[in-house]
Amino acid sequence: MNILILGSGGREHSLAWAVAQNPKCDRLIVAPGNAGIAALCEVADIDILDRREVVTFCEENAIDFVIVGPEAPLAAGVADATRGAGILTFGPSAEAARLEASKAFTKEICDACGAPTAGYARFTDAAAARAHVQAHGAPLVIKADGLAAGKGVIMGMTESEALAGIDEIFGGAFGAAGAEVVIEEFMEGEEASFFILSDGESALPVGTAQDHKRVGDGDTGPNTGGMGAYSPAPVLTEAIQRQVMDEIVMPTIRAMARRGTPYQGVLYAGLMIKDARARLVEYNCRFGDPECQVLMMRLGAQALDLMLACAEGRLGQMQVNWADDHALTVVLAAKGYPGTPLKGTEIRGLDTLPEDSSNMVFHAGTRSEGGRILATGGRVLNVTARGATLAEAQARAYAMVDAIDWPEGFCRRDIGWRAL
Ligand code: ATP
Repeated sequence: MNILILGSGGREHSLAWAVAQNPKCDRLIVAPGNAGIAALCEVADIDILDRREVVTFCEENAIDFVIVGPEAPLAAGVADATRGAGILTFGPSAEAARLEASKAFTKEICDACGAPTAGYARFTDAAAARAHVQAHGAPLVIKADGLAAGKGVIMGMTESEALAGIDEIFGGAFGAAGAEVVIEEFMEGEEASFFILSDGESALPVGTAQDHKRVGDGDTGPNTGGMGAYSPAPVLTEAIQRQVMDEIVMPTIRAMARRGTPYQGVLYAGLMIKDARARLVEYNCRFGDPECQVLMMRLGAQALDLMLACAEGRLGQMQVNWADDHALTVVLAAKGYPGTPLKGTEIRGLDTLPEDSSNMVFHAGTRSEGGRILATGGRVLNVTARGATLAEAQARAYAMVDAIDWPEGFCRRDIGWRAL
């Protein structure tokens, strides 16, 4: 079959890598892709937020199956458009993607199905929000309702930080995403990510992971899009996974179906774990980046069969064939990230690295120019390895990192520390 993947990051490179291994895949195109993806399959430069352009491209290229990587095209209704044109599509409708696009909506769903999450209140008016903070006291978490690229969440560890957060959001720092503010109880515990596929009715876990949000070793410095990840996350024990499926995921899937907006795609549950119980922090409607890279390394070619089963509504017949393995990815970023990264510097040594089912460098911000690979973004490469133990995966990943010649790049040296 002919398959189109939408996106251009390390997540989409790893999806393409897994999909291309499956014999069902005859032709694979990633739009818009990056230099690493272009070395693996075809890339196409289309505007993936433009529903009509995506549908026309699918028709012209006889695309049988579309996989949507990032959240922006989902929120823009691209999956609705391709499905509406009769093309099998992996990814939720814009209505169902509100589980990520609106924090207030997620809270409504949690209320409707009794899923454990932080207590909260919603405000469309700054004075009422400030009064709530003054009445409750810190710590509180202040969130812009809509999509703000991970920046719309302000930790109010003191009352003045919480009040400043309200002023920032209602002051327009996040545009329309900040028209409503959700104020949450501060939850303590350890965070982990749980990935579940759903066809709207059944749900199938496809792995756990932990990310490393801070830029510096020992979880120091400013937040980033993620500096590395590993899977599985031992903190999400089998018992906690069962609790999450029973108390959070299945009730959510049923609540979405009851509303007439069934959820089809990957549901990424961000969880806070304390005293052997999980509460929901947030839902995302797509694979995490860089968590997807470690999940794809572990799932391999079967990822395509699972995503197809979601789109075709037959996930209930599927199971994951797990190898007893571990995967770890280290993000190489351009110096300056997460502030202003250096751009256009050359990365050498990539051609000396092994690329096989246990070792891969997934590209994020790269482009190729006259055979040279240049950095174009903040997060640039995802050096990913698999092993029988997490320690082995970590050693392999850092051996590859050390073979890359890129003085203008940097990485954390402690990815995996929580589990090791
Ligand atoms: P991202 O894109 O980074 O996932 P987001 O904008 O979708 O962020 P959330 O995931 O809701 O926002 O919050 C970001 C981070 O803030 C969480 O990963 C968690 O570390 C912290 N956080 C959010 N809500 C709470 C809470 N109620 N208690 C404690 N920490 C929280």
